[in-house]
Amino acid sequence: MTALLQAEALSKHYEMRGGGPFGLGVRAVLRAVDGVSLAVPAGTTLGLVGESGCGKSTLGRLLVRLHPPTGGRVNFDGQDITGLHGAALKPARRKMGVVFQDPFGALDPRMTVEAIVREPLLIHGERSGGERSGGERGGGERVGAMLERVGLPASAASRYPHEFSGGQRQRIGIARALILGPRFLLCDEPVSALDVSVQAGIVNLLQDLQAELGVAMLFIAHDLGVVRHISDHVAVMYLGRVVEQAPKAALYGRPMHPYTQALIASVPALSPVGRAERRLRRARVGGDVPSALAIPAGCRFHPRCPQAMAVCREVDPALVEHAPGHAVACHLY
Ligand code: SF4
Repeated sequence: MTALLQAEALSKHYEMRGGGPFGLGVRAVLRAVDGVSLAVPAGTTLGLVGESGCGKSTLGRLLVRLHPPTGGRVNFDGQDITGLHGAALKPARRKMGVVFQDPFGALDPRMTVEAIVREPLLIHGERSGGERSGGERGGGERVGAMLERVGLPASAASRYPHEFSGGQRQRIGIARALILGPRFLLCDEPVSALDVSVQAGIVNLLQDLQAELGVAMLFIAHDLGVVRHISDHVAVMYLGRVVEQAPKAALYGRPMHPYTQALIASVPALSPVGRAERRLRRARVGGDVPSALAIPAGCRFHPRCPQAMAVCREVDPALVEHAPGHAVACHLY
């Protein structure tokens, strides 16, 4: 299947200054994203999971070029967009939508819902797209139709963000992200800030919209349970790297990397029963994720890995495909 979005050895390193005799040298390098290759085929959803601080949100922002990478390449819709900026990047960005984690901070409280949802149309020169302002009569036709598509009444257009609940605000954010009819949607932890009771509604909405509109998605979450529901493929990230990537059924049915096994074991509803359950319970890991300023040598997971061997402390395992579409970075295989 042809990839709509593809990353090759993508990196984002931050130089921490303050070293040297005059304090101008590089003191350390923070490797937030450290050589990630992945692909999102058109019309499919890739789930990206990992603990806080593993670099998954930074990776998402690199892919849609909200941040410039420091290494590697991003190809989107047949075009290398790695080095594009400003007007040159705009046509590609027009085909990309972003749903942010915080539905409270992502919406300007001074703007009406109509102005918020219509803003991307104006930025991309579709001044007729929102039609006339509907004000209290409910907003432009295109904006109103999009609000209804995300489960809000068209009359919501004339109201302000503070008048809505967290789940409703996230629906406004989704309407804004989809108003231009993008081919790719980055969903950066879109339900993490929401009550559990409304999370399923947002996930189901995104799943329905994905099927209806044929948009490809990168769905970022730290919860493997949420990702399982919505994804076709899943990539597991640890300390700036993808350590396992597979079709959903393979990843949940036969997780290979000890870190993936530990993540699955930490979600009771996902844990298998019987012998496999006992094996996964042994696989659970403790400790914190090391700092991206001091990534361990060899396999970066070795200080926490219950199956670490001598080789793991010295040799960095490559991500290798062991079954169709199922790749893992681990010396056990
Ligand atoms: Fe564990 Fe070694 Fe595999 Fe890393 S390479 S996950 S330390 S067994």
